[in-house]
Amino acid sequence: VSLRISALARGIVQGVGFRPFVYRIALAHRLVGWVRNGSNGVRIEVQGDPAAVEAFLNDLRHQLPPQAAIESLDVADAPLGSDTTFRIVDSAVEDTVQPAIPADLAICADCLFEINSPIERRYHYPFTNCTQCGPRFTIIEGLPYDRPRTAMQAFPLCDACMAQYGDPLDRRFHAQPIACPACGPQLSLLAADGHVLATTAAALQEAAEAILAGQILALKGLGGFQLLVDATNDAAVARLRQRKHREAKPFAVMFPSLDSVQAHAKASGAELAALTSDEAPIVLLARREAPGGDRVPLALSVAPQNPHLGAMLPYTPLHVLLMSRIGRPVVCTSGNLSEAPMVIDTPEALATLGHVADVFLVHDRPVVRPVDDSIAVVRPDGLALLRRARGFAPKPLRLPAPQPTTLALGAHLKSTMALSLHDQVVVSQHLGDLHSVEGATLLDRTVADWLRFFAAQPEQVACDLHPDYASTRLAETLAARWQVPLIRVQHHHAHVSAAIAEFGLAGPVLGLVWDGTGYGTDGTIWGGEALVCEGADFERVAHLLPFPLPGGERAVREPRRSALGALYAGWGHAGTAAAADWFTEAELKTLTSMLDQGVQTPTTSSIGRLFDAVAALTGLHLKAGFEGQPAMALEFAADGIPTNGGYELPLGDGLPAIADWRPLLKAIQADRRAGVPVGVISARFHGALADLAVAIARRFGSRHVVLSGGCFQNRRLVSLAAERLSLAGFQAHVPRLFPPNDGGIALGQVFVAGRRHAGEPPDQRLNT
Ligand code: ZN
Ligand code: ZN
Ligand code: FE
Repeated sequence: VSLRISALARGIVQGVGFRPFVYRIALAHRLVGWVRNGSNGVRIEVQGDPAAVEAFLNDLRHQLPPQAAIESLDVADAPLGSDTTFRIVDSAVEDTVQPAIPADLAICADCLFEINSPIERRYHYPFTNCTQCGPRFTIIEGLPYDRPRTAMQAFPLCDACMAQYGDPLDRRFHAQPIACPACGPQLSLLAADGHVLATTAAALQEAAEAILAGQILALKGLGGFQLLVDATNDAAVARLRQRKHREAKPFAVMFPSLDSVQAHAKASGAELAALTSDEAPIVLLARREAPGGDRVPLALSVAPQNPHLGAMLPYTPLHVLLMSRIGRPVVCTSGNLSEAPMVIDTPEALATLGHVADVFLVHDRPVVRPVDDSIAVVRPDGLALLRRARGFAPKPLRLPAPQPTTLALGAHLKSTMALSLHDQVVVSQHLGDLHSVEGATLLDRTVADWLRFFAAQPEQVACDLHPDYASTRLAETLAARWQVPLIRVQHHHAHVSAAIAEFGLAGPVLGLVWDGTGYGTDGTIWGGEALVCEGADFERVAHLLPFPLPGGERAVREPRRSALGALYAGWGHAGTAAAADWFTEAELKTLTSMLDQGVQTPTTSSIGRLFDAVAALTGLHLKAGFEGQPAMALEFAADGIPTNGGYELPLGDGLPAIADWRPLLKAIQADRRAGVPVGVISARFHGALADLAVAIARRFGSRHVVLSGGCFQNRRLVSLAAERLSLAGFQAHVPRLFPPNDGGIALGQVFVAGRRHAGEPPDQRLNT
């Protein structure tokens, strides 16, 4: 007796060596039939002895290749067929596209061995890959994932590669991006004016020499251009800062080896595991004051006044070969200007980075979409992403229930977009800020890219409540064009909802959302919010006592303005006397009269701005090089200082309850006068915020409390708040897979739009 079954496997089953695996286990159990990629998943039909079929299904579930993950496996009996062998058959394009696009994978151990082995034909070949590693998301143009629908279509396979591609026992069996020196992409080194200086191995060698000579290299990497410079050469790093218009924001560093990482930073076992994982993100590590052994220290300008170091290891063969020739740490940052999107093609790179980089190491494999390096930290609860891109995007997240196809356009900074498909949601890679034309264009392009990719037609569009975000304007245009509902989701509501979606929380959830800026339902700037969220609904149960920001947006760059606004709100003209040292007399006069008249002084309840105010009051930062720098300086000042008591930060009785920072600012001023060190003041400030979190949870929380918003990237704050909440009987949830900063907003918007559609009451019980 023979049995035939038909199975549909969905999940991460393409681009991970899944079909070869199916082929091997079918052969092992002496079954006939076929396996085929579809846009809807992988379809398998096998036939043979019933016990063998059973054993096959068991292997299918439990012996998966490391990167594969089966979301669902539907198995049904099928009529017997006449197959005499087991085959891999051509892909079929089906109607409904499942959101299962593989992410890019760091080079595997086998390929690493091969490129370092002189007897191999891929010795020193920078585009080596296999079914377990290599480019995926950055080369895919359409589904199902097959070579003709990738950037590799322009590279016909040579006979030797074709033989490997077709050999079920080869580890490159059906590896779509397979390439070798005879048939694959090649390197060139270009001068800034575009003329070719060298090709292939010589290009690589000369690029390495340029770095060692202190030059700036623009490298066409996996997901776009990167800028590389010797991280031990202060003048070179300073030149990169000056040319890239990036004053103070820390640069990430690529190290030639794990040894080299450990010489410059302290990494735990979990941090080392993250660095060497298939996703290979940038991991924020604690820096060593002096490097171990006889290593040359990193230049001061790599990460000024920062005890952390964003470290990564080479993750493509190209990076491996380049770094082994350089042999020392290298600054490795996105190839863009300021916060504009990463540049992906060579002519564009020469045009926009021509005055930044000295030489360009490029290749002829197109980059289909920009995918930046991911940034992660290891917290006690595991790896947490601060920027979700390479290696992680576009892995889907399962929603609690199917919902109408929803396109969400996210926020304005650290922008991402999201698309729901049935009961799953795919969130785009980090797209960057939308200030620039390039940023807004990339969002536009990404929307078109994804809708085509998934053959999706949105039934609703979601966006932020902020009227002036480029994402809001695009959402308005698209909703009008498609004649579908536009759902505006309050910024902090979206932050909490992203975490509710990630952790699958149900029932009313208290979310503490502390960030820099978000448009409130009353038109003021929110950012120190406690929201009880349920379904599509939220109630603002507590917030920080609002204060004015003289000059509005400019306060982000000038913490002294936040401090002045708070002093003015707290104690009027008497309070602002303390600000006399921070401004010229004329400046102070202008700002005070703006405050008196209430012109250009939006009101905020933002904890981000409270951090700024405290940074100014303690003399750490009167001005900021980038948003978040003052808060980081405060966090770092408290390193190594235990939190004993916290300042008084009382929570009022009303609804919403108001957290009054006035006693806190008074106490800080008194401590300053008494000569208390800044680190101790900072520890007490962090303690006050953690106590506030507990006070709010005690009054308004049930078991689960979400902590989100950019302020919770602060590791001292997040661990202190989570620890104290847990002691008080609450379970804190801090986003991990999707960033707590505005990179998570699009996910939250999709979730809220889905709940609203599900018939949750649309009217918000607002207390503003
Ligand atoms: Zn490999
Ligand atoms: Zn070849
Ligand atoms: Fe935010």
